[in-house]
Amino acid sequence: MRFIKNMQIAVMADIHSNLEALEAFLNCICKEKINKFICLGDIVGYGASPNECVEVISKSPNLYAVSGNHDWGVLGKTDLSCFNEIARIAIIWTQNQLNSKAKDYLGSLPLISIASGAFLVHATPEAPADWNYLVDVYDARRQFQHFNEKICFVGHSHVPMAFELNETTDELKIIRDKKFSIADAHCRYLINVGSIGQPRDGDPRASFVIWNVQDQTIEFRRVTYNIKRAQQKIRRTGLPLFLASRLSVGR
Ligand code: ZN
Repeated sequence: MRFIKNMQIAVMADIHSNLEALEAFLNCICKEKINKFICLGDIVGYGASPNECVEVISKSPNLYAVSGNHDWGVLGKTDLSCFNEIARIAIIWTQNQLNSKAKDYLGSLPLISIASGAFLVHATPEAPADWNYLVDVYDARRQFQHFNEKICFVGHSHVPMAFELNETTDELKIIRDKKFSIADAHCRYLINVGSIGQPRDGDPRASFVIWNVQDQTIEFRRVTYNIKRAQQKIRRTGLPLFLASRLSVGR
């Protein structure tokens, strides 16, 4: 790992065509020194601004991104029968909206990647293209066998969560702290950064992580955004109304 003084990396996932949330995230982090961005997929799907979100992400310097199931869905790379009805309607709507430049960018994204020594995948390191959900310690324990890096960042469930595996004691625990150290050389981490554009943990604010590489800390962060505007845009498009209403409650 290359250490730059005060190197901070902003890690986020599941933007889901929510430009208002994406812009609030970018405004929030521009106040601090961020050297690198990581986006863990699902740039599109659900929201009303797919082209705009892809454009912002594709033009962000020092950004490392992987593909999500909705990104694959709009490209026809994954079977739409795996999605629930509302997700499927949104994917088909998105397919009809996306310009060729945006499709090309989404098509260029890998399924897994490594950035600054961290393993990146949208769903699980065990089976990146199966889009399984990782919600508890039982799911998490198996995943640690499928990456060698100290940290694996994931998205997909839209619920921020961190697991720590102590490889000396074999103890696996969920970390509840908003900010925690990853300095212990015996420990490895599996971190779900939550969702920018459609959080589902009961907190409607956009969720992301700041990884301070020098200090070896991880911090879960939230930022408010103009939910009403994002909802109005969804309602105007004719997308299912649930996709607008759920944004107010973060479910
Ligand atoms: Zn998602």
